[in-house]
Amino acid sequence: MTTIASDHEHVTAHCRICGYEGACDTYVIPEMMFGTREEFGYYLCPDCGCLQILDIPADMSPFYPQNYYSLEAFHVEYSSNFIQNILVSRRCKSALFGKHKWLNRLLRHFVAFPPELYEFGPLLKQCDLHDFYEPILDVGCGAQPFRLAAFKKLGFKSLLGIDPFIREDTIFRGVHVLKRDLSEMAGRFSLVMFHHSLEHISRQRETLEFAWDLLEKGGVCLVRIPLVSSALWEKYGVNWAELDAPRHLYLHSEESIRRLGEMVGFRLTSVIYDTEAWELIASEQYVNGISMRAENSYFVNPDVSMFSGAQVKALEQEATRLNTEKRAGRAAFYFQKR
Ligand SMILES: [Zn+2]
Repeated sequence: MTTIASDHEHVTAHCRICGYEGACDTYVIPEMMFGTREEFGYYLCPDCGCLQILDIPADMSPFYPQNYYSLEAFHVEYSSNFIQNILVSRRCKSALFGKHKWLNRLLRHFVAFPPELYEFGPLLKQCDLHDFYEPILDVGCGAQPFRLAAFKKLGFKSLLGIDPFIREDTIFRGVHVLKRDLSEMAGRFSLVMFHHSLEHISRQRETLEFAWDLLEKGGVCLVRIPLVSSALWEKYGVNWAELDAPRHLYLHSEESIRRLGEMVGFRLTSVIYDTEAWELIASEQYVNGISMRAENSYFVNPDVSMFSGAQVKALEQEATRLNTEKRAGRAAFYFQKR
């Protein structure tokens, strides 16, 4: 296993998050999703702990080819039964907002909770939403916003996605997605979400300020990001799959993301750790020189990958343990507008 102590040097740098200026450890990180192995320099701020790219490429578009999102699809199956959909939505309403519990108890004899409730219910319950009409914005969701589509299936009525990298404005399963930067947005939202998109954006503080401006008072900004202050960075170093150079411009520590939110005025209300096994699987592959999209990658051809079923099971258990111990490689930060 590579350790981070063996492959870094120093540089004098300016932290784009906390403003620290001085000596920083540097790391050389190869592109490993597509396996070009082009190398990018990163430095670690000794003050706030944020790992960030030395030079932001002037044109990021070559690093986002059209097949960039193709491994991320979460399939939402819709029932064509109108009545059944209404009953499911009523049950979800009760589960998410704690309303009409008697109705939920009655309806459970007729319809089951959809899988989307188990997938996203815990996340949504932390967002201080009160009904299905509260407007939700997903920033950087791609052209197929599967999370918003899942929210729509649960019953949410006012959903919008934006992504400056998609080809054109589009509609995905009834959800509108605009080819637009956050800075160009207007409107009022109860929830603004960054699901692993903030680390791709160069202007971190400005971005959270735009989110602040779009939120209602009491609204929540949900930021899901990789965490460099984790057991996975300690274990895998430059082979940690979440680095995703050069697309991830920032790998925050818990300290740096909390400080960034507070600079904007947010109050951090909750942190949920949500590492999954894929992160460990991919990191093990990178240690062995196997890129995410290689022919023998677990994510392309699991049968010819380096992992047995038992090994995958063990990595799933390790991911769960890291979440419990709050040492996971990714987490969800809930910032509330006071
Ligand atoms: Zn810093």
